[in-house]
Amino acid sequence: MALLLLSCCAPCSAGVIKKLAAEDKRFTVLFFNPNITPLEEYKKRLEANKNLCKHFGIDFIELPYNHDTWLKEVALGFEDEPERGKRCKICFLYRLRQAAKYAKENGFMEFSSVLGISRYKDLESVNAAAEIAQKEFKIAYNFTNWRKNSGEQEGLKTVKELGLYLQKYCGCEFSKK
Ligand code: SF4
Repeated sequence: MALLLLSCCAPCSAGVIKKLAAEDKRFTVLFFNPNITPLEEYKKRLEANKNLCKHFGIDFIELPYNHDTWLKEVALGFEDEPERGKRCKICFLYRLRQAAKYAKENGFMEFSSVLGISRYKDLESVNAAAEIAQKEFKIAYNFTNWRKNSGEQEGLKTVKELGLYLQKYCGCEFSKK
């Protein structure tokens, strides 16, 4: 059963990719992160995630990047929200809807994401957004809690071992505050 895994970056996805690859699970990594700014930062995270997938022999797909559209459709009016607030909930839904759409249109059986693997993220908000996306596009979301079995720590360890880029903020300009 092929799974589409939405990834936000190499550190958050490395532990999950390593685990699924070891289990011989059929899956593809999807990179859709128009929230990341500036463009140079986006490219660094894209490259790190691509190299991570190459290392484990996993297919990697990048969807078009447009931060201006993200700003209009996600952040407008929510610029001063704290991290884990309303802007983040909309940001999760924005990216998960695109992942669900892509999965449905490209014959995947299910989709999942690592958006909630970090202890800095609100996993309940990610799951609530996934619930909406799976219903809207009629494709099952895999609700596995990737935090279990030290998923986040394993990811950080793997990224350090492979010498991949490790970012210092979530992604948007507002998360730099
Ligand atoms: S802080 Fe992170 S999750 Fe929240 S809106 Fe910005 S990029 Fe999205």
